[in-house]
Amino acid sequence: MERRSGHARHPIFTVQKHKATRLHYDFRLDVGGILKSWAIPKGPSLDPKAKRLAVAVEDHPLDYADFEGVIDEGHYGAGPVLVWDLGWYTILDGDGSARQAQEQIHQGKLDLALHGKRLKGAFSLVRIKGPPGQWLLIKHKDSESRADGEVTDRYATSILTGRTVEDIEAEARAGMLKPVHCT
Ligand code: MN
Repeated sequence: MERRSGHARHPIFTVQKHKATRLHYDFRLDVGGILKSWAIPKGPSLDPKAKRLAVAVEDHPLDYADFEGVIDEGHYGAGPVLVWDLGWYTILDGDGSARQAQEQIHQGKLDLALHGKRLKGAFSLVRIKGPPGQWLLIKHKDSESRADGEVTDRYATSILTGRTVEDIEAEARAGMLKPVHCT
């Protein structure tokens, strides 16, 4: 995984494509050693005009960040999961502390720089009024923003294994699935 050299170990972010009852993308930020998590029904976008609903969901342990496999029937979120993006992030103009990220989540607005393979550049994650837990993920206009099609259409596969969710489902049906952490 790409990280800046030097003493600073930046916190990771991950995006898992998850074909549960409905396909969605789970956007997760390492904040102080746990993954704060949002489910994005339409997936993240690099188009600044796209304001993507991101519903706050339960925290996950940090070692879930690179999980690929199938969540078994009968469990919440049953279905295949792949790692759609994985990288690191900083709070824009931040001091790099988890405390600051926690505070901004509490306040309902984070300005992030994402350093993934597919998601790069500045984004805002903003809590909106209305039902609790509803946020928007919005790309800033910058050198990484694009308006020529959805990044989720351009890339369907795992960045770790090249598999699609259908590949993972087929492997599971054939009893060939290795539900392992990939890194
Ligand atoms: Mn999910």
